Amino acid sequence: MFKKILVANRGEIALRIQRACRELGIKAVMVYSEADKEAKYVKLAEEAVCIGPASSALSYLNMPAIISAAEVTDAEAIHPGYGFLSENADFAERVEKSGFQFIGPTPESIRIMGDKVSAKQTMIRAGVPCVPGSEGELPDDPVQIRRIAKAVGYPVIIKAAGGGGGRGMRVVHTEAALINAVQMTKAEAGAAFGNPAVYLEKFLQNPRHVEIQIMADKHRNAVYLGERDCSMQRRHQKVIEEAPAPGIPRKLIEKIGERCVAACKKINYRGAGTFEFLYENGEFYFIEMNTRVQVEHPVTEWVTGVDIVKTQIMVAAGERLPFTQKQIQIRGHAIECRINAEDPFKFTPSPGRVTSWHMPGGPGVRVDSHVYNNYFVPPNYDSMIGKLIVHGDTREQALARMQTALNETVIEGINTNIPLHRELMVDAKFMQGGTNIHYLEHWLSQHKR
Ligand code: ADP
Repeated sequence: MFKKILVANRGEIALRIQRACRELGIKAVMVYSEADKEAKYVKLAEEAVCIGPASSALSYLNMPAIISAAEVTDAEAIHPGYGFLSENADFAERVEKSGFQFIGPTPESIRIMGDKVSAKQTMIRAGVPCVPGSEGELPDDPVQIRRIAKAVGYPVIIKAAGGGGGRGMRVVHTEAALINAVQMTKAEAGAAFGNPAVYLEKFLQNPRHVEIQIMADKHRNAVYLGERDCSMQRRHQKVIEEAPAPGIPRKLIEKIGERCVAACKKINYRGAGTFEFLYENGEFYFIEMNTRVQVEHPVTEWVTGVDIVKTQIMVAAGERLPFTQKQIQIRGHAIECRINAEDPFKFTPSPGRVTSWHMPGGPGVRVDSHVYNNYFVPPNYDSMIGKLIVHGDTREQALARMQTALNETVIEGINTNIPLHRELMVDAKFMQGGTNIHYLEHWLSQHKR
């Protein structure tokens, strides 16, 4: 096992990884930007290294600074968390070339899955069902583009091969709007992701977002840890996640889970990974794979009892998966609310000083957050400041616990989306379960204020 790991991230996930290291008896080196020097996980760290100014381009995305921090502290491995450099194949490669273990899959796996076109082609070959669409990147010829869209059938969605974070997508309802939409998405993709390649998919009308968590080691063992439902989204960004997915027969989950495991073995995957699917009319359609730990991993941890972050570290060190597929049982129901520093209904970011921070507790309540009383939320990063996760024997109990937990929560000094979560937790349709990916946007348009 490693003696020392460098955590190349910030915020709640940096703290989450630090905690996992403590449990494993590993020293965690924290890196931080000038905007994060007051963070408690930095102050409580055995070692911490400043890697640059507030701007992420100069700090959390600064590969040479991060690698030299690992060198000067004698770390053996680097955990990238999520976001920032976690899905950057060049970074993974530089980490390994510098003699450190990257806690994640091989640079090759990251590269294949990072390009959504090659990811889809790989999945089709591995027998994973995909959304019908163009066979690969769209050609330049408008006649051919029109032919492809017609064959797939409108509405279609144009997606950037290098896209992520819900950006680089455009829905097209008619042939008249097609070519213009392709050109605009291409231009945006080139500017935002440095890759103008786009592809086309059937736009599914009322799907749910259901994803399969997998975990693989370096000895060709792979196990799926059930599914998560992440259909409650705004602008293609997840807001609430839960496990298991309400109302989907276990048999279907097992079938798709086994496909994912087979695909992992086929591509020699290692580490944690998520196969994202759209689910409609009893069918799963692969959309993309994330080659890292996800924000919503705690709901899976709670229903399976597996510590995903610890397992990531163990398999990176060469250990075998400490569980078999048979040992994975789904117990009860877990729900996660992402806590964002933003106006709950207008969504304008709300950084600043937290003057009061009181978190809920009691049975079945978990809070993953780096925030504390008097913490200053810097304006430089993502607005997510923590996650509230609950577990219950049933979905009803989990909902009741989340309602209580949200009502106990007090955050002052900044705006947060807690008031939005409070309303959603008592919304009749959400309480029923199984809402689709458009539900939250629709709800918001009906509850304007
Ligand atoms: P990103 O990498 O930016 O998260 P994804 O490919 O995972 O992009 O898609 C994000 C979200 O966009 C999905 O969860 C879904 O809500 C919507 N989406 C993507 N592809 C389709 C599609 N073919 N039909 C309908 N909605 C889609």
